[in-house]
Amino acid sequence: MVSKKVLIVYAHQSSGSFNSAAKDAAVEVLTAKGYAVEVSDLYAMTFKATATAEDITGEVKNADHFCYGEETKLAWEAGKLTADITEEQRKLTEADLVIFQFPMYWFTVPDIMKGWMDRVLTLGFAFTHEKRYSQGIFKDKKAMLSFTTGSQESMFSANGINGDMNVTLWPLQNGILHYCGFQVLAPQIFWAPSHVSSEARSTMLEGWHTRMQGLLGENPLAFTPLDCFDGEKGYQLKPEVHEKHAAKEFGLTVGTHLGKAPTTQQPDESWSLKNE
Ligand SMILES: Cc1cc2nc3c(=O)[nH]c(=O)nc-3n(C[C@H](O)[C@H](O)[C@H](O)COP(=O)(O)OP(=O)(O)OC[C@H]3O[C@@H](n4cnc5c(N)ncnc54)[C@H](O)[C@@H]3O)c2cc1C
Repeated sequence: MVSKKVLIVYAHQSSGSFNSAAKDAAVEVLTAKGYAVEVSDLYAMTFKATATAEDITGEVKNADHFCYGEETKLAWEAGKLTADITEEQRKLTEADLVIFQFPMYWFTVPDIMKGWMDRVLTLGFAFTHEKRYSQGIFKDKKAMLSFTTGSQESMFSANGINGDMNVTLWPLQNGILHYCGFQVLAPQIFWAPSHVSSEARSTMLEGWHTRMQGLLGENPLAFTPLDCFDGEKGYQLKPEVHEKHAAKEFGLTVGTHLGKAPTTQQPDESWSLKNE
């Protein structure tokens, strides 16, 4: 039987970090379960974070007005992407599950990991206009975010100062992972490991160990299927889908909330008064 493959895309500078411990735990547990685990240790690889014309070997189509998406699509088709990108694409093609392990930086992934996403998820290879979201190229693969924060959990709640973590993760989980078709597993969040006791840190790692026992069998997060939107009408929800949800208390997803969720950003009407 061919074993399932897991790719861990890992971004931390230090082998003594909590992120390193979470990554090592994943390698240990998933390998013991019989999966083939590969790690892309981005800082150790000095992975290039910037999306530039240097990602293409040889001539580009239009050097005067270089369009990264279009040029890298052509380069991917012609086998002219640089070796570092091609190697990550090879790992991704083989993987059944991709785990992104990182410390949260400015409410998102560190730049080196964003660079991996910008450069490896090439147009044509990872998505096309026709193949995205629920019909995306990687719809038979799973992916998940596993990360640490500096903030306590309460700060990232619906009543907390940072706002709801579900909102924070929407661009990554929907805009990148699900956009490429991945079935997105619930995130693994290690809250504020630098600010808790060593017992609490051990408990968090034990929880991760336990979760990994059934990780590949977990149901992914729910997203609205692509065919619920009308491509002829600017990808708005089809009227029948909208109607079906009109009387419901909540919207469809964090992003497509139908104006119901408290996520709607309103202008601050008192601002001009305060600054008069
Ligand atoms: C540029 C930048 C932007 C940031 N933006 C945000 C943000 O937007 N939101 C936010 O919440 N935070 C933010 N942070 C904070 C950041 O997310 C945290 O500092 C980080 O997540 C902590 O994880 P770590 O792995 O680096 O912890 P570490 O400091 O490496 O580890 C925490 C503790 O775990 C211990 N440890 C290591 N291995 C083990 C083990 N095996 N078992 C038990 N304990 C162990 C370590 O010794 C240490 O005491 C930001 C930080 C930076 C630098």
